Amino acid sequence: ERKVLGASARDKTPSYDWFQTDDLITVVIYTKQKGLNAELVIVDCQHKRLRGEIILDDHSYLVEVDLDHEVQDDFVVNIAEKVGKVEIILKKKDHIQWKVLGLPLESHNTLIRRTERGLFYRKCKLVSKTEVTHDTKLFCFMLPKSTHLQVPIGQHVYLKQIIAGTEVVKPYTPLLPFLPLDFKEPFCQDGVHIYLMIKIYSCGLFTQALDHLQIGDDISVSNPEGNFKKSQVEALEDLFLLAAGTGFTPMVKLLNFALTKVDCLRTVKLIFFNKKDDDILWRNQLEQLALKDERFEVQFILSEPAEDWVGKRGKISSALLSECMKRSKKDSKVLICICGPTPFTQQGLQYLKDLGYSQEEMHAFTA
Ligand code: FAD
Ligand code: NAD
Repeated sequence: ERKVLGASARDKTPSYDWFQTDDLITVVIYTKQKGLNAELVIVDCQHKRLRGEIILDDHSYLVEVDLDHEVQDDFVVNIAEKVGKVEIILKKKDHIQWKVLGLPLESHNTLIRRTERGLFYRKCKLVSKTEVTHDTKLFCFMLPKSTHLQVPIGQHVYLKQIIAGTEVVKPYTPLLPFLPLDFKEPFCQDGVHIYLMIKIYSCGLFTQALDHLQIGDDISVSNPEGNFKKSQVEALEDLFLLAAGTGFTPMVKLLNFALTKVDCLRTVKLIFFNKKDDDILWRNQLEQLALKDERFEVQFILSEPAEDWVGKRGKISSALLSECMKRSKKDSKVLICICGPTPFTQQGLQYLKDLGYSQEEMHAFTA
């Protein structure tokens, strides 16, 4: 049953159809919206259950059926961006004629607000785990063949594990396996691997369990979530990134996108807050990038520095922000992104407001 929507929304309600050959089942979704891309199409097909979710602004359209017969794990997703059409091509296991596509599941053929669509998880395998600092590791997970999913810039996923008999869920922000130093093209993700940089807390419930995962073990990974929009970076002249600790993670893809795709960009400055110098994530890579791209600058600020630290000391403050953030020219188009512990982010937003930056000029990464 379709959810009741206002007239304008109803006109835009997507529809779907399906057809078959001896070998293939093709499900076609007509979204009636332009500007579709691979990040907006999330498809899972496992154990005869097909789930295709299309993100349409703040809405989500879902096709969800228990297929009539078995299909193979891998499938093809074709997206006709200009006409807003999505094709999911499934391979039949047995070459028989299907009478129906399958049994519709509860949320099948619904268009609802994205926030009302429950999270969907699929099992991913841990492929590798490498040290970044004394307490932080880079985890690489592999999506199953039966999933089509890409995590957009600024969005996070939820990981789910059963710990001592209880389901525990925590958000993490996918990034790139390294900071690319070549700015010609944005780093191309393969659509298979998801990289997460995670700090292991000695008393942390979830991170301790994560640290005990062995290569080849499974973990449940959700669909992406988050409200950052690429359009916030378009036509930007100055980009300031205020990151504290692992609050650095959303900055990685953003940095890469800004330096490769935003032509009018003059300056990008990362102001990176940490406790000690050995807590700084990817320090060497950041310094290399600053050497290579003159638009990029990085400044490290330590709250618990050793005596020999020659850089800046302290925590986020109004004085520090006004000193460290200089526009490339008066009235430049600017965006300030902030991410870190909640008090850091909240204080930072308040200081920025006090310094005269508008709401549109700030973005906080939060759950
Ligand atoms: P808990 O069992 O919740 O806490 C145990 C102890 O660990 C605490 O007493 C404290 O000493 C310490 N601790 C736990 N959480 C924090 C904290 N937030 N700040 C300071 N000390 C803490 N983390 C990453 O490492 N990488 C990411 O990419 C990442 N992305 C995130 C994205 C979003 C949207 C949000 C909201 C959080 C993100 N986090 C990220 C944090 C992550 O979700 C967990 O909060 C974190 O891994 C701690 O979980 P835990 O169960 O191990 O700790
Ligand atoms: P940390 O404890 O090592 O602190 C790093 C720096 O943050 C400190 O040096 C200090 O400058 C600043 N800071 C810490 N507490 C502060 C406070 N109360 N007030 C002002 N400044 C403070 O940081 P961590 O352990 O790496 O934690 C990173 C945080 O970032 C976590 O809370 C995590 O949940 C959050 N995070 C959020 C997102 C997101 O929302 N998208 C993504 C990644 C990480």
